[in-house]
Amino acid sequence: MARESKLDIRGAALLVRDLRYTKISTLLPDLDDLLKKNKALVVKHGQQKLVLSAEQHRLPTNKISKYAIKVIKRLKQAGYEAYLVGGGVRDLLLGKTPKDFDVSTNATPEQIRRLFNNARIIGRRFKIVHIVYNSDIIEVTTFRGGNSSVLHVENAIPRMGKRYEVQANPDGMLVRDNSYGTRIEDDAMRRDFTINAIYLDIQTGELIDFHGGLYDLSHGIIDIIGDPETRYREDPVRILRAARFSAKLGFKISKRTVDMIAPCADLLSAVPSARMYDEVNKLFLTGHAKATFKVLLALNLFNRLFEISPMLINSSMCREFLSYAFESTDQRFSENKCNKPHFLYAIILWNEFIWNFYMMRDDLMLSANNIDYKDMISYLASKVVIQQYQITAMPEQIIRSIALLWRLQFLLESKDPQKYVKETTSYHAFRAAFDLFKLRAHFDPNLKSRVEFWQPYYDQCKADAERRRQTIETGSERRNNNDNKSRRSRKGKNSGRDSGNGNSNFNESAADRQNRINKARDWRKAMNLEP
Ligand code: ATP
Ligand code: MG
Repeated sequence: MARESKLDIRGAALLVRDLRYTKISTLLPDLDDLLKKNKALVVKHGQQKLVLSAEQHRLPTNKISKYAIKVIKRLKQAGYEAYLVGGGVRDLLLGKTPKDFDVSTNATPEQIRRLFNNARIIGRRFKIVHIVYNSDIIEVTTFRGGNSSVLHVENAIPRMGKRYEVQANPDGMLVRDNSYGTRIEDDAMRRDFTINAIYLDIQTGELIDFHGGLYDLSHGIIDIIGDPETRYREDPVRILRAARFSAKLGFKISKRTVDMIAPCADLLSAVPSARMYDEVNKLFLTGHAKATFKVLLALNLFNRLFEISPMLINSSMCREFLSYAFESTDQRFSENKCNKPHFLYAIILWNEFIWNFYMMRDDLMLSANNIDYKDMISYLASKVVIQQYQITAMPEQIIRSIALLWRLQFLLESKDPQKYVKETTSYHAFRAAFDLFKLRAHFDPNLKSRVEFWQPYYDQCKADAERRRQTIETGSERRNNNDNKSRRSRKGKNSGRDSGNGNSNFNESAADRQNRINKARDWRKAMNLEP
């Protein structure tokens, strides 16, 4: 698709008009000027690249992760090409703090692994290398090459010894995408959106833009690279990524990019449900849930991600509830509080669950006297969650926690709450259940008195948890100090020297230790090693 058409559609049928975006011009005035002067150059982005020197772009390089710089330097020292690319460059240009840093190189995953002993190759469909520095993970990808040797799986005639690094299913979806290239130009072609394909050479300070990404960044546009249909067919998750970046950055989606979303949306059903689970978490747990919800509704995608009946999701009651709930999760995110997937799903599917509950209860009340509500709640919770599992494969532990949060709603709502205090507060999930309850109470005045009843228990639980945390910390601090003392004395005895400089691990404070444990846990999570 030629660049000219993009300029024609600019300002025309772009999506989500009311979302704010930071004009790059306010951050980098020279750049905006430069882009205007170089319009012709940008328009012909397919043929020419735009290279900006450090003086021209003035990107705040001091904000780049020292680990990303370390990785790039080591790759370069070993004779490879390496650039910073993707969200890190994009967000720095927008004056935002990048979530992570991605490096692109012509070294293969195996070559990268040989250079770093903290490197792990992950993924099969799309191999990448994670280089892990405590909780910082630098994601390194090898330049992807052209698709010349795509194996279309349905036509495959088995040929002994032939390994296809790129495989597509009958819909054109790349089920394996590991054909490596040597040219940065080819790598840029295989990236999703123009704004994600801007490369920074940290040594020369040059920004290299092959697809008019800087232009789009300065005009707040999400534009897919290449033919939209082909790119969505190759990887339907790009549809969700377009929505995610539109919400996160407040950018509009270009007409040609948005126009093919509806015709290609069915392709999402072919994406493995475990990958969909990860994508949904990225959509809703990274601080832009409310805006994402709005964009997904506008694109008719929300009901493709969640098993909620159309009647419900089209009701203002359900939309207002979700909007309010998402606003509150975004608020928590901005306060550095954690948002967990089970809470997210419990919110999103709540209306579906409770609607099913009322329907079933009404049916049963007509035909039976004694209804076993406990069984009914368990049955319906499983039903709703298992339907959802077909789309987003949540880990088993998450499934159990969603059902528990729903079950606790009935105890919180009880007419005689005093009777259930012991049971309800004994659950680890009590606080999360009460958070969901408060969201519900915002729309249901009948629940107000119960909120007042449970609030002191909630505060008490919170204080207890805080106290427990402090006790554990002090305990481990004391243990650490004792360990240090005995180690020092042992060391003294063994070496015959009184060494005040113990191993740095021995001197680790409780807070540092907790920090290290948290980081390790985050890292395991990032590596999908634990739910
Ligand atoms: P953020 O990390 O803020 O969510 P990001 O753009 O860095 O945004 P990542 O998922 O970290 O997103 O991906 C890094 C880069 O890899 C992207 O910027 C893009 O260039 C490329 N990329 C990621 N996913 C795809 C995809 N499905 N198709 C093509 N390119 C992709
Ligand atoms: Mg990234």
